[in-house]
Amino acid sequence: MQFQSHDLAALDGLDVDGRLKWASDRFPGRAGIGTSFQHNGMLLIDIRCRRNLTGLRIYTIDTERLLPETYDFIKTIEAQYGIRIEVHRPDPAEIRKMVDEHGLYLFFDSKEKQEYCCYLRKVKPHDRVLDGLDVWITGLRRVQSEHRQRVPLYEIIDRKGRQILKLNPLFDWTDERIEAEVKRRNVPVHPLYSQGFPSFGCVICTTPIRPGEDKRAGRWRWRTGRAAVDDKKECGLHIEKGADAD
Ligand code: SF4
Repeated sequence: MQFQSHDLAALDGLDVDGRLKWASDRFPGRAGIGTSFQHNGMLLIDIRCRRNLTGLRIYTIDTERLLPETYDFIKTIEAQYGIRIEVHRPDPAEIRKMVDEHGLYLFFDSKEKQEYCCYLRKVKPHDRVLDGLDVWITGLRRVQSEHRQRVPLYEIIDRKGRQILKLNPLFDWTDERIEAEVKRRNVPVHPLYSQGFPSFGCVICTTPIRPGEDKRAGRWRWRTGRAAVDDKKECGLHIEKGADAD
């Protein structure tokens, strides 16, 4: 797929609904909303379902270590909207080998082992999803962390010799705007928000945050100091050639 800049320029003048419709109409079955069920992703799912944008797939990566509430929430969403969410999992043989060699809690040992675990449980399954997509739609926003401050509306990613459009239709939305819209539309809310979780990753690796903390501060709490700042607290999904929804 080759994307033309004059075609993509149309995205700038559209609102979020329009951006999703654009992707659904032009890339039916080849555009997907990747989500871990934060407000951002839920808002995109709500628009997709209410506007009947059936060209858009909805998928999530199940690391097989997700918070139990997330598994329940997936069922709630499916029932409420009458949809099926694609759930993609890691290769069982690779996970078995990793756990045999390093233990289930290898992420405590070093940053390298945490990245290895994220790579097998998140990045590789996600790579397989991207093999079937031309447009990867995310809920990334600039205000989510220091390291996401330059998130663009869209970018072209070269991958395995072909182009993928990474579309971040909420890139410039504030927390206040997101929350107001979620409330206005009566979008389902992940139950762990009420316990201070800003995002919903794996058990142990994802914890609630305190008021004023960066939204990624709850990830891998045991990593502190300069190393924690430098490594961006991303699991690789949104780092080019890195080892990390959300
Ligand atoms: S967040 Fe933790 S358990 Fe989940 S894949 Fe990464 S290191 Fe592994």
